Amino acid sequence: MITLLSGGTGTPKLLQGFMQLLPQREIAVVVNTAEDVWLPHGHLSPDVDTVVYTLAELINEETWYGIQGDTFATHEQLLRLGFEEFMNIGDLDRATHIVRGELLRRGLTLEEATRRISRALGVQARVLPMTNGEVRSVIRTDLGEMNLHEFLIKHGSAPEVLEVKLVGEARPCEGCISALEEAEFVVIGPSNPVTSIMPILSLEGVREVLADRRESVVAVSPLVGGKPVSGPADKFLRAVGIEPTPRGIAEFYADVAGHFVIDLRDEQFSVGGVKVHRTGIIMKTREDKRRLAEFIMGIFAGGRR
Ligand code: GDP
Repeated sequence: MITLLSGGTGTPKLLQGFMQLLPQREIAVVVNTAEDVWLPHGHLSPDVDTVVYTLAELINEETWYGIQGDTFATHEQLLRLGFEEFMNIGDLDRATHIVRGELLRRGLTLEEATRRISRALGVQARVLPMTNGEVRSVIRTDLGEMNLHEFLIKHGSAPEVLEVKLVGEARPCEGCISALEEAEFVVIGPSNPVTSIMPILSLEGVREVLADRRESVVAVSPLVGGKPVSGPADKFLRAVGIEPTPRGIAEFYADVAGHFVIDLRDEQFSVGGVKVHRTGIIMKTREDKRRLAEFIMGIFAGGRR
C-alpha cells in the first residue's frame, strides 16, 4: 500500500499515474479539507471531490474540478433567479454535495460520508479527508480576508497575498495516521505546499509520523522552470516566507521528506539530508503520469518496507 498527500490538481494527476501501476486497493490518499464550505445546497469538499472523481474516472481534466460532460442547468437557473453562485457547479457535481451535506447533518463524519460516496462511485482506493474537524485556510490580501475560492474565482488570483492563516485546530482523520505509518512509501504530491499540503502537515502528529519515516517519504515539486505549472502557488509561498523555487520547497519539506523530485529543466541542488532526483515532472499525457509514478516507485524499489 502507498499513501499520497493531495490537493485538487497536481497530485490527482500523479494519482492517475499510480492508478496505471497498482490496484486501487493498494492506494490511500489523505486529502486537504481546508477549503471545505457549506453551500445552500450542501457541503463542498473540493479536493476530496476531485480525488474521488479522479479515482472513479469521472474527473473533468480541463478544470480539475467537477465531472466531465456535466451540465449546468441548475447553476444557470440560479443565476436567472438572481442568486449569486460564483462557483460554476455542475448538476451531477451538485448531487455529491447534496448527499455529503445530508450525511453530515445525520451525524456521519466526513470520513464516513466520503467512504459512502466513494463506494457508490465504485472507488476502491481509500480516500481519507485529512480531518473530521475544522481547519480552514484564510488568505489575508490587500483587499481583505477571503477564502481560496473567493481568491481564485471571484478575484481571479489578482490580490496581493499578505498572509495565509490556518484557522482551527484538529486531529487527523481516524484512518489518516495508520495510512501514513503503514504505507510502503508516502508521496507528497505536486500540490500547492501552502494551501494544500501545509493544512495536512499542521494536524496533530502528522509531521512527527512523517519525520520518523522521512527516508521513505518523497515530495514532488509543483514548480517547474522557476514557476508553478498552474495556479498562483508562488504568491502563497512568498507570503509564508518560503522561497518560491524547488530548493525553497525542498527545504520546507526537509524534515518530513528525505527525497525530493524536480524537473529536468531545473538545476540540481543540494539541501542537507535530502536526496534530490531529476526527471520530467510535467504531466500532460497518460504516459507522462505513468512514467513519473514509475520513477517514484523506482526510488524505493529494493528498500521497500
Ligand atoms: P488545488 O487544490 O486545485 O490548488 O491543487 P493542488 O494544490 O493539488 O495543485 C496545484 C499545484 O499543482 C500548482 O502549484 C501546480 O504548479 C501543480 N501542478 C499542476 N500540474 C502539474 C504537473 O503536471 N506537474 C507538476 N509537477 N505540478 C503540477
